[in-house]
This record gives sequence, structure tokens and C-alpha cells, in this order.
Amino acid sequence: MAEFAESLDSLWAVQKHDLAIVRAQDSIDKTNRETAASLAKLEARQAKLAERQAEQRKLHNEHKELEGELHRLDERVKQLEGQGTEAGMEAATKQRAKIDEMEMKGLDLITAVATAEANVEAAKAEVEAYRATHEATAAAHAEVIKAAEAVIDAEKEARAESVANVVPELLQVYEEVNARHPGKALCHLEGEFCGGCQSELNTQLQMQIRARKEILRCRNCTRILDV
Ligand SMILES: [Zn+2]
Repeated sequence: MAEFAESLDSLWAVQKHDLAIVRAQDSIDKTNRETAASLAKLEARQAKLAERQAEQRKLHNEHKELEGELHRLDERVKQLEGQGTEAGMEAATKQRAKIDEMEMKGLDLITAVATAEANVEAAKAEVEAYRATHEATAAAHAEVIKAAEAVIDAEKEARAESVANVVPELLQVYEEVNARHPGKALCHLEGEFCGGCQSELNTQLQMQIRARKEILRCRNCTRILDV
């Protein structure tokens, strides 16, 4: 029964295409994961920038509020002094002490705002630098994926030709096993062992495999066996 042996030969060709498809798909998946990781790094830098911008706005607003308060106090001092009374002068002195204290705080805030601004600029630079890296990475990855997809298309086309030479019964079993062991459903008899899982095969089964006349599978891993 030469026909079955020929079917097995063609099935090896089918498997070769399936293995190439599996590898190309793995490379697409890996590349997509790497692109996602690169994007996550960019987003982390963007989040850091947003955080620093919020900090800068907060300090800026605090400073603005303090300036407003100082202005009100200045007005109050003028008013008290304008009263021309001893009590007024005393109150004005107290207010001036408060103004001095607030002005000190204002200076500290100015320093803090300047630091926050520098931090924002540094974070912005980090985002821009990494964005360029990410964009280059993403563009290179897109090329890798395009090439892998072209491989898959070509392999699928070649596979269709090989599949036509495999008897339907064998092909059906192969498809089932291939779903479980992608690209590795068909394996060789290696001495007395299954080439897929290395379990020992009995003598009867080994003889049947060598005859290449029927579908024979490993009891342990279910793979199809051939010489
Ligand atoms: Zn096995």
C-alpha cells in the first residue's frame, strides 16, 4: 500500500509548513509583547511628567495665594497706620511681623516652584527622548510583523498543496494532534522510543510503524508515529 506511505511523506511536508507557521506566529506574539512593553515604559514616563506638572501647579497656586494674602496684609497695615492712634500703630507692628514671616515663606515657595519647574522640564525631556526610542522600536517591530505575516501567507499556500496529497483520514487525525502539539504532531520512531515524548514503544508497534501502512500513535503523547 504505497499510497499510505506517500501520505505520510506528504504529511511531513505539511508539518514542516505548520512548524514554520507556528514559529512565525510566535515571533509575531513576542514582537507584540515587546511593543506593548515599550509603550508601557513611555506611558510610565508620561505619568511621571503629569505627576510633576500637578506638583508644580500646586506650588504655583500656593505662592499665588500667599501673594494675595500679603497684599491684603499690606493694605491692612496702611489702614491701621492711617488711624494715627497708638492702638493702630501697635496693631500695625503685629501685622508687619506676620508679613515678614509670610515673606520668608514666600521665598521658600519661590525656590520650591523653581525646583518643581526644573523637575517638569527633566520629565518632559525624558518623555521626548523615550518617545523617539519607542517610535523607532515600534516601526522596526511593524517590519518584523509584516515579514512574519508574509512567511505565514506563503507557508499556508504551500501547505495547501501538500495537504492535497494526504489521505483525509490521516489528515483529520493530524489536525487533531496538531491542535495539541502545534508543529509537532508527527514524530519519528527513535530506536525503540517515541521521538515526541521518549516513551518506550512495544515491539509490535515498532514493526507496524516501520511498515508505514496505517495510522499509528503514541499511547502516551498521542502523536502520529513514522519511521
Ligand atoms: Zn509519545
